[in-house]
Amino acid sequence: MAEILPVQVDESKSRTDGGKKKKAIPKGVVLDKDGKPCRSCTSFRDWAAMTRKKITPPQSKEPSSTTATATATSLPPDCPPDVETLGRSTWTLLHTIAATYPTTAPREKQDEMKTFMNIFSRVYPCWVCAEDFQRWIERPENKLVPGREEGHLGGRASLEQWMCGAHNEVNRKLGKSEFDCRRYEERWRTGWADGRCD
Ligand SMILES: Cc1cc2nc3c(=O)[nH]c(=O)nc-3n(C[C@H](O)[C@H](O)[C@H](O)COP(=O)(O)OP(=O)(O)OC[C@H]3O[C@@H](n4cnc5c(N)ncnc54)[C@H](O)[C@@H]3O)c2cc1C
Repeated sequence: MAEILPVQVDESKSRTDGGKKKKAIPKGVVLDKDGKPCRSCTSFRDWAAMTRKKITPPQSKEPSSTTATATATSLPPDCPPDVETLGRSTWTLLHTIAATYPTTAPREKQDEMKTFMNIFSRVYPCWVCAEDFQRWIERPENKLVPGREEGHLGGRASLEQWMCGAHNEVNRKLGKSEFDCRRYEERWRTGWADGRCD
């Protein structure tokens, strides 16, 4: 599910350019800063509604001519990622980085992590996601400050809770339920207490 993002254009309003009518952009499709649709900012469902290509989902026996992407809910695995696939993969990386951070981090590691997160927040390919994330990490209570106990970088436990909070901020924004941060280590480092990951 993509969030209702600020640069979405209502399908009912087709654009004109020098008198020439342009194809309307369906609601849910996010535009890049150059005005072109941003694939990594848009869910597959909304992207497919715009392209209206006929794609047969991998398992389907239906002939492709009768299977519209607008009804498919997920991408074939070897396509460029939509906002959700990119998000899931990225969270996996970020949480795994936090879960393998030293229990007590030397100053050099703390500096590296701050640099990494700051650069990450600027290069994340979904630009609308990145801008909100930058605003979140700039809040005084969320700032990463090496060498300070309240700076979230002193060791694994504090970085994990910070990362959990960052993800929950996005969950709230998208209307999803919040993750219980007390279960963070089970989810991302040790595996669940019931042994199903062993
Ligand atoms: C920095 C960033 C910003 C994003 N901003 C947007 C945005 O503005 N709009 C948008 O549409 N999408 C955004 N996304 C993508 C979005 O967060 C989801 O990844 C995407 O919607 C797919 O969601 P999902 O329900 O499959 O699970 P995800 O939210 O991707 O979560 C994957 C798994 O992580 C675990 N998990 C969930 N919450 C937490 C938590 N708080 N702590 C630890 N583990 C957790 C759960 O086991 C879950 O199954 C963003 C992603 C990132 C990395």
